[in-house]
Amino acid sequence: MATVDGGGPPTTPAQVLAAYERVRDQLPRAVGERPLRPLPDLAPLTDAYDLFLFDAFGVLNLGERAIPDASARLQALRAAGKTVLMVSNAASVPLPRLVAKYQRLGMGFTAETLVSSREALLAHWHAHAGARMGVMAPDDGPLDDLPTPHHRLLDDPAAYDAAEGFVLLGSDHWTPHRQALLCDSLRRHPRPVWVGNPDLVAPREDAFSLEPGWWAADLQRATGVVPKAFGKPHAAIFQLALAKAGYRGDPRRVLMVGDTLHTDVLGAQAMGFDAAWVVGQGASAGLDVMAAVRRTGIWPDYVLPHI
Ligand SMILES: [Mg+2]
Repeated sequence: MATVDGGGPPTTPAQVLAAYERVRDQLPRAVGERPLRPLPDLAPLTDAYDLFLFDAFGVLNLGERAIPDASARLQALRAAGKTVLMVSNAASVPLPRLVAKYQRLGMGFTAETLVSSREALLAHWHAHAGARMGVMAPDDGPLDDLPTPHHRLLDDPAAYDAAEGFVLLGSDHWTPHRQALLCDSLRRHPRPVWVGNPDLVAPREDAFSLEPGWWAADLQRATGVVPKAFGKPHAAIFQLALAKAGYRGDPRRVLMVGDTLHTDVLGAQAMGFDAAWVVGQGASAGLDVMAAVRRTGIWPDYVLPHI
């Protein structure tokens, strides 16, 4: 099984934290210590911010299940005249499918108010179109919104050598064998690697799944190729969110709400936004909050059990 600098696949939130710490030199720099205010929920912050950015998994939903009262909070913020966007590293599916999922869950997002890292990566890809890209995606994942030429990376070694660059969107069916094919091909001939989902892992029913960011860190260690990442905590997705919101105001009037220190909180604060860390469920549930903050040096502005 692939490792990130010697660490095996994590099975607890504390091990997830440790895995992110091992790739810390690939992430934006933390802004340093600041006051961390505990809150019961987001209600007291309604007037303090104009633009609210929400992570999805662990904040609004767990898998196919909406988190109770999450949609009510979104509605209350909208009713108060706030701009509310969802900012997600979900890169396996095209934007319309993601919009449909969150409509089904009652969150009320549209193509204008939902921002995905797939969208951020596609903007870059369209600007560099023409090269034949090899795509890591779920075996049944739709690719019809991607620029051509491209082909899916499966178990044929020739497909890896035929690519002029690589796009990592989703790793549901990725295997150590496919990773070895990718690394071997990159060692022989280094080419660009674009990462649509920089998450290392995602919490599933009873374990953590390894996500494209995990495999990207592994290939960087194995080949020396430095991937370019488009999701949180990197700037591209946040810049896209500001553009879609039409927001040109003070970054300190923007609040990012998420359950992962190294993606949601770190990335938002690097943009000059404030950040609220949700710890009641999702990626950080059960963590010792202050131990995690001190260990990582990532200080959220607020910590709360749910939104
Ligand atoms: Mg999350």
